Amino acid sequence: METLDTWQWQMANRITDISSLRNYVEISEQQAGEIAAAGARFRWAITPYYASLMDRKDVNCPIRMQAIPSILELQNYNGMQDPLQEETQSPTPGLIHRYPDRVALTVSSECAMYCRHCTRKRFVGQPVQRTTWQAIQAGIDYVTKAESIRDVLITGGDPFVLSDDRLERILRALRTIDHVEIIRFGTRTPCTMPQRITDQLCDMLAKYHPIWVNTHFNHPRELTEEAAKAADMLLRAGIPVGNQSVLLRGINDNLDTMKSLLHGLLKMRIRPYYLYQCDRIVGTEHFWTPLTTGLDLIDHLQGYTTGLAVPQFIVDSPMGKIPLNRSKLVELTDDHAVLRNYEGQTMTISCWVEPRLALLAI
Ligand SMILES: *Cc1c(COP(=O)(O)O)cnc(C)c1O
Ligand code: SF4
Repeated sequence: METLDTWQWQMANRITDISSLRNYVEISEQQAGEIAAAGARFRWAITPYYASLMDRKDVNCPIRMQAIPSILELQNYNGMQDPLQEETQSPTPGLIHRYPDRVALTVSSECAMYCRHCTRKRFVGQPVQRTTWQAIQAGIDYVTKAESIRDVLITGGDPFVLSDDRLERILRALRTIDHVEIIRFGTRTPCTMPQRITDQLCDMLAKYHPIWVNTHFNHPRELTEEAAKAADMLLRAGIPVGNQSVLLRGINDNLDTMKSLLHGLLKMRIRPYYLYQCDRIVGTEHFWTPLTTGLDLIDHLQGYTTGLAVPQFIVDSPMGKIPLNRSKLVELTDDHAVLRNYEGQTMTISCWVEPRLALLAI
C-alpha cells in the first residue's frame, strides 16, 4: 500500500491551532487562552506524528511539555535572548565561529516542531535573513578562506526541513573545500518527524562522507519504532548517530527516566553524546534545574552503567562548551595520586616516573 505518511505531509499538516490540538489532547478553556498567549510570543507547531505521542489527559506529559506553549514562558525573571552571544560571534550572518578548528553554520530558521526549551528561541520559526542562500553562500565562502576549519556543523533551526536538493547544494559546495574533513548535522527530525529520514536522503548524504548526525531525544517515550527505523537508516548509510539531550525539569531530571532514555538510545545504536544544562534563555525558565541535578545524574550513571550510555554533562557558554563532573582526582603530587571510584572508595596509585624516562616520553 502506498503510504501518505511522508515528511511533506507531516510538515503540511502540522498542528498550529487549538482546535486541531484538541484532536490529540484535552484542553480546558483556560489552557486554550494560555496556549494562545504564549504561542503568540514564541512560535509553535507540532507534527501530527509528535502529537500522537502525547498523553490525552496528563498535562505533565513529557511530550506535551516539550511541544505545547505554556503560560510559564511569559513569566520569566532571569532569562536572556542570546546568553551564548552567538550573534556577536558570527563573522557572516548565521555562521558561528567560536572554536579554532570548527564552525556552526545555521542554514534554516525553521523546525519540524518548535521545542519550548529551544536555545535559539530568539529566532527559530521567524523568517530571518541569514538563512537565505546568499547568507549560506557567505558562510561557505568564509569556511573556504579559513584554512583552520576542519569540521563544519550544519545546524539551524533544523537543517533537515530543507529539501534534499537544497541540502545537497550545501554539501557539494562544502566538499569542494580541501580543509573541511568532517561535516556534521544537528537535526531533531529523527525524534519529531522520523518520516524525514528517507532512502533518497540517506543515499544523497552518503555521497558526501564523512557525515555525522547528532539528534535530540529527551525522553524514553520518544524512542518509537519509527524513530528507531530512522536511526537505522542513517546508520546503514554509514552515518554515525549521536544524541544531544537537554536536561529539563519535570521531563528527564530524574535518574530512572534518564537511564531508560540512555539505555533506549543504545538499543537503537545511538550514542549519547551531550547532556546540556538548559541554557538561560528567555521563555525557558520553568525548565531550568540546579547544576547539582546534572552532576548527581552523572555520578549515578558513570560506573553504574555501560560507559557508552553516559553522555558528557555540558554547560554551554560564549567561551565554548564546558564539560562538568565531580572530580575523581582527590589529590595529585609528582609521585602519587588519590583517586575515587564510582562507589566513593578511594585508592592511592603511584605515578612517579624517573625524570630520565619522563624526558624520553616527550
Ligand atoms: C556546539 C558547537 C560546536 C561543536 O562543538 P563540539 O563540542 O565539537 O560538538 C561548534 N561550534 C559552536 C558555535 C557550537 O555551539
Ligand atoms: S529542533 Fe532544535 S532548533 Fe528547532 S526548536 Fe527544537 S531545539 Fe530549537
